[in-house]
Amino acid sequence: MPKKLVVGNWKLNGSLAANEVLLGGCGTLAGVEMAVCVPFPYLAQAASLLDGMALGAQTVSEFQSGAYTGEVSAEMLAEMGCRYVIVGHSERRALFGEDDAMVGRKAAAALRAELVPIVCVGESLAEREAGRVMEVIGRQLGAVWESIGKEGFSRAVIAYEPVWAIGTGRAASAGEAQEVHAGIRRWLSEREVPLAEIRILYGGSVNAGNAAALFAMPDVDGGLIGGASLVAEEFIAVCRATMTNGGC
Ligand code: PEP
Repeated sequence: MPKKLVVGNWKLNGSLAANEVLLGGCGTLAGVEMAVCVPFPYLAQAASLLDGMALGAQTVSEFQSGAYTGEVSAEMLAEMGCRYVIVGHSERRALFGEDDAMVGRKAAAALRAELVPIVCVGESLAEREAGRVMEVIGRQLGAVWESIGKEGFSRAVIAYEPVWAIGTGRAASAGEAQEVHAGIRRWLSEREVPLAEIRILYGGSVNAGNAAALFAMPDVDGGLIGGASLVAEEFIAVCRATMTNGGC
């Protein structure tokens, strides 16, 4: 079993001064892998301040180089010291027009540069209420499969992030998360992806109060943390919660 993984997603937040305070207060914990995905301009600063935590980015170009103004390639991220990159976050899908196929191409670009893509999937509230959760997630995963296949999935991390839980203060219950994580594991197993090393993170309003119950679920291998990753004590408390209730 790999260690549980907790990844902070800073989104569009930070400043040189604030980052120094936040990263200075985080530290690391034995028994859990910790990472932070920071805005592009702060990668170098974060790389210089991190001591044991892994570095990641929040998106990546599907292209390697050329006339793509504003884009940042996976190779550039790797050169800056990144290990992880988030692809297909629901904010990128909803606000920046990223569709399922593009998410697949971005995951492939990440793997090409030996980065670990954190592939985000998740349903809207309307889709949940219509009983379409696994249909939607199967479609999202299927598009990524077209680009990276079994070998790629065996090197990726998956994040289940129900859209209705992101930034709303309304996390999925531990039971709701477990049900979907088990469904994702089943989806992978049906395609013969080796499951032993795969980590499926839960994301959506995780905080120090609800993290332990979520991480205690057998198919929840860690978390993708937005708001709670912006305060050092809260982020550390979430990371520590992987080690209670049978966490790693
Ligand atoms: C996220 O943006 O990936 C996220 C999970 O946000 P929050 O924890 O704030 O809901």
